[in-house]
Amino acid sequence: MKTVNHWIGGASAEGASGRYGDVTDPATGEVTTRVAFASAAEVDAAVAAARAAYTTWATSSLAQRTAVLFRYRALLDAHRDEIAALITAEHGKVHSDALGEVARGLEIVELACGITTALKGELSTQVASRVDVASIRQPLGVVAGITPFNFPAMVPMWMFPVAIACGNTFVLKPSERDPSASVLLARLAQEAGLPDGVLNVLHGDREAVEGLLDHPGVAAVSFVGSTPIARRIHARATAAGKRVQALGGAKNHMLVLPDADLDAAADAAVSAAYGSAGERCMAISAVVAVGSAGDPLVERIVERARKITIGPGSDPASEMGPLITAAHRDKVAGYVRGAAAQGAEVVLDGTDFTVEGYENGHWIGLSLLDHVPTGSDAYRDEIFGPVLCVLRADTYEEAVELINASPYGNGTAIFTRDGGAARRFQLEVEAGMVGVNVPIPVPVGYHSFGGWKDSLFGDHHVYGNDGVHFYTRGKVVTTRWPDPADAPSGVDLGFPSER
Ligand code: NAD
Repeated sequence: MKTVNHWIGGASAEGASGRYGDVTDPATGEVTTRVAFASAAEVDAAVAAARAAYTTWATSSLAQRTAVLFRYRALLDAHRDEIAALITAEHGKVHSDALGEVARGLEIVELACGITTALKGELSTQVASRVDVASIRQPLGVVAGITPFNFPAMVPMWMFPVAIACGNTFVLKPSERDPSASVLLARLAQEAGLPDGVLNVLHGDREAVEGLLDHPGVAAVSFVGSTPIARRIHARATAAGKRVQALGGAKNHMLVLPDADLDAAADAAVSAAYGSAGERCMAISAVVAVGSAGDPLVERIVERARKITIGPGSDPASEMGPLITAAHRDKVAGYVRGAAAQGAEVVLDGTDFTVEGYENGHWIGLSLLDHVPTGSDAYRDEIFGPVLCVLRADTYEEAVELINASPYGNGTAIFTRDGGAARRFQLEVEAGMVGVNVPIPVPVGYHSFGGWKDSLFGDHHVYGNDGVHFYTRGKVVTTRWPDPADAPSGVDLGFPSER
């Protein structure tokens, strides 16, 4: 069996705690790998390595940092397939989807290659007689990143390229369910010339996470995961005096007006609900159909959903892979099985599904629930599986009210040909990312990603300008140089009244 070790100070570090976790291939149900779980002492070692590297990395020139990042970009590009294969083997998503994840992560490395522009300060000359004021941004120190299972390469790449480009050093605690991709990302960074200790990978569970949250050597924490854990991480790390951004779960709604192109809306709903088996924080999990859109839309969704091929992620014919664990599969199935008793109409039931030759895989088929009551568990909870809920509303206003009543506010989309309705929706809907005829509006690297309400705890979204602001702190320098023509200075205990 393969063992995944920590990556500390530029070298593989065997687990010393004696604790390990199992990593399973979701397509076969077999345990293929064990991953070291860090103890408090190993958290200390990783933070110490990052602190030691910080002294020189924080003062390295922007030209040195960007030279490393450009080489890193080329190496990642050359290793796309290898990274994607590791993701498929441990997460289960199909290879093409894993390649897409790597591509979106690469986009943030490309953003970081341009950090020279993002870190330009501001200067005002002659704000008062012979006084200039400059605003500069400086790195924070050691930053910790804690990431979820569903994007084992992309979500870490939302964080560390920007953090290190800004001059910080980084300790990544990836998900223990699919830890291998993160180690490859760190190895490639070293090959690109990143000094040892700038990027460290520490594996583990709650013990490792809490060790990082409480560690006095960690200045800031970026977290992405489920809402209950995000809320806890934010509370604990801010209480320890750290800067924190904690992105949580979601229930993303797609509003479909009767004038929409219903074929395009159905294509979008099926792709966004069932892609990656629904294990995406930007998955569409609720469609709100307005008026006459409902019946023809559901008909079109069913037609398309029936044609999806489910199978191992490594098979190029597969469009959707298995779920991450058997326990998660059973939990997802429970929502579908309980839906009818709570008032929903079960249009497609994917709970009784397996793939021939892979009977122990974590399989589940596509499920579609219609007329789902807002009080039911299937609507209220983030299911994080291939289950799409359809709700009905009589008017646009009723639909927006329904969406805004959700405690989540990650992404949302409207499908319509009515520009006025789309414009109102952009302004009225309470979510951080909005799509107009775009079902998964994940912002490009130079805009920032983040939700509202229970989908994000903290003030900064990730990457883009918010990422640069999160990983730096501002300093303002006010300067006066004596001029040879100056009159001699004198004591003045008051505020200057003349400028
Ligand atoms: P999770 O919250 O279970 O785990 C996330 C990370 O937290 C992992 O590294 C895990 O080891 C750690 N962790 C888990 N329990 C912990 C505890 N009690 N104390 C301290 N650390 C703990 O999330 P997951 O199941 O890995 O990922 C799926 C979730 O992530 C979904 O809710 C999804 O919506 C969310 N997600 C959100 C975004 C976003 O951008 N908002 C992006 C991707 C995933």
